[in-house]
Amino acid sequence: MKSMGKQTESDEFLNEVIVPASEARTIEVLKGQVLQIVDLEGQQVGDLAAWRLEDPDEYLSPSHTVSSLAKLVPVPGDPILSNHRTPLFRVLRDDVGRHDLVVPCCDPERYSIDYGEPEHGSCLASLEAAIADQPRELPLRGEMCWNVFMNNTVVDGKIVTAAPPHPAGSLIELEVLEDLVVALSACPQDISAVNAFNPTPMALRVKGARD
Ligand SMILES: [Zn+2]
Repeated sequence: MKSMGKQTESDEFLNEVIVPASEARTIEVLKGQVLQIVDLEGQQVGDLAAWRLEDPDEYLSPSHTVSSLAKLVPVPGDPILSNHRTPLFRVLRDDVGRHDLVVPCCDPERYSIDYGEPEHGSCLASLEAAIADQPRELPLRGEMCWNVFMNNTVVDGKIVTAAPPHPAGSLIELEVLEDLVVALSACPQDISAVNAFNPTPMALRVKGARD
């Protein structure tokens, strides 16, 4: 799909891209802008990947972010780092406060090996389709994805996945610190509690520089 979405009727947003349920879309954002990831209907997880426009071999890295923050879940004020530890985003607002930066996004093997559903859609396949028409080559692997709003917690060393409790309209707002192309998958997982067994659409919204 094309990277740029329709212009919204609202003056508040420079751009808005609707991410249909179980699909993925891309959007470009520039340094100084503000990116919102919005759950339109509630209890939905989005898998976010981002690459620097000037060098897509530098990309959002959940593991580097966890390492430098020394925490499993970023909070408002925290940076989200690249694989070279460059701050790509800073969290401004977070309505949900639950995220996973440990497990990769869902992929075809997850469904075929772990669930016996080889034909099931996956975030990785959705993201690959969404970036296929990009003018530049974007490296993509499952471990590059930040599982936004994923309600995973660590209990006695085990990762426990629960249905996300957050309601429709919940969002996280990120200050954009570098020029980026961003891809978001509205996760199609309907076999486990990840999306409360009901995958739904999301939105990417871009606002101008703060102040
Ligand atoms: Zn997924």
